[in-house]
Amino acid sequence: MLRARPLGEADRIIRLFTTERGKLDAVAKGVRRAKSHFAGRLEFGNECELQMHHGRSLDVIVNADIVRAPWERLVEPERFATAQLVAELIDAFCEPDLAVPDIYELLAGVIAAIAASDAPRTLVPRFSLRLLASLGIEPPIDACIRCGKDFERDAAWVDPQAGGFICARCREIWRDLVELDADDLRNLAGLRTPRGGGAAMLLARPRVAAAIDDIVVHHLGRKPKAAS
Ligand SMILES: [Zn+2]
Repeated sequence: MLRARPLGEADRIIRLFTTERGKLDAVAKGVRRAKSHFAGRLEFGNECELQMHHGRSLDVIVNADIVRAPWERLVEPERFATAQLVAELIDAFCEPDLAVPDIYELLAGVIAAIAASDAPRTLVPRFSLRLLASLGIEPPIDACIRCGKDFERDAAWVDPQAGGFICARCREIWRDLVELDADDLRNLAGLRTPRGGGAAMLLARPRVAAAIDDIVVHHLGRKPKAAS
């Protein structure tokens, strides 16, 4: 579950991310009462198997069985803030009622990784790149996003306005941009590779992490609230 808001005296509207229907809102009745059978189940970050009824406007959750409940580990402030950021990005970028199995898998994987991590923030750059890739809006890393030419001399500049990386020639026009050197570009390429082969342990270099944040902000049109 991504987030929840109160409804009436005892109910909540829960924003879910599901395998079958992607993002959707559903009502959990009586969930705010102490004796609710949902107690401890429909918590932020938990993965549940749900039974739902079609309601008049929103579907109604009638039963929830826990598949994975990282909630207790997510309570730690940095893990919580990171998980909130991840949930916010998925919520903001995904359309309602559209199944995206790749992104479901990405979400389940990153929540488990955050729950297990002592440095959860370091998981965000790779997650962000994979999210952008799943959405089909990942910037190219070997060609300029403005003119399309391949990068020369192993350097590129971060162009937040264009949402990607630009070449030396375009940079003459768009000044005051952060430069990525050959090591940064190698790091960026490594972060984009699928998991396995030790790649999961690769950490983003500071300029690379900042560049990925800038590109997310470009597509989102604002800074994520959970990033502060
Ligand atoms: Zn260019």
